[in-house]
Amino acid sequence: MIKILKADITTLQVDAIVNAANNSLLGGGGVDGAIHRAAGPQLRQYNQTLGGCPTGEARISPGFELPARYVISTVGPVWHGGNQGEAGLLENAYRNSFRIAQDNGIETIAFPAISTGVYAYPKEQAARIALGAMKDFENKFEQIIVACHSEGDVEIYRKISKEFERAKG
Ligand code: ADP
Repeated sequence: MIKILKADITTLQVDAIVNAANNSLLGGGGVDGAIHRAAGPQLRQYNQTLGGCPTGEARISPGFELPARYVISTVGPVWHGGNQGEAGLLENAYRNSFRIAQDNGIETIAFPAISTGVYAYPKEQAARIALGAMKDFENKFEQIIVACHSEGDVEIYRKISKEFERAKG
């Protein structure tokens, strides 16, 4: 089941929350900053042992002080106009997050809208990639949550979700 919610991802009681991290995995702004604040300084200390993460890949850490058991950090692409492989990299970020989740027995997982903040990926295009990957992994998980930061983001995901339903016929 895929659930689209307006939520602060740091409050969700799921097996794993996904972080839209940067290549250092040591914290930043936006959702990354919120997750590091809520997890506590141990997340940064732990991530220092991981040696960073290339764009499109994912790494897993304990959730420390979060309600979630794990943090899966993935690095989405910075939007440079769409001709620099952004779509493939964003898709990899979602798929590799799902793969590492499967390898760790995770059944409930929540995602933010990766790359659509500071990294400036157009929101509708990003939602199409996100939901496409989520549909492919839907039956492998008990629950997949899209944690939207705003009501506007909820509407974008609902709209794209309806497009998928219609395309299915
Ligand atoms: P990126 O660098 O990948 O663009 P950002 O953190 O700037 O990452 O933005 C990614 C998305 O996360 C944006 O849609 C932003 O509104 C959203 N976001 C920011 N804080 C939170 C939060 N606490 N919970 C869920 N989503 C959040």
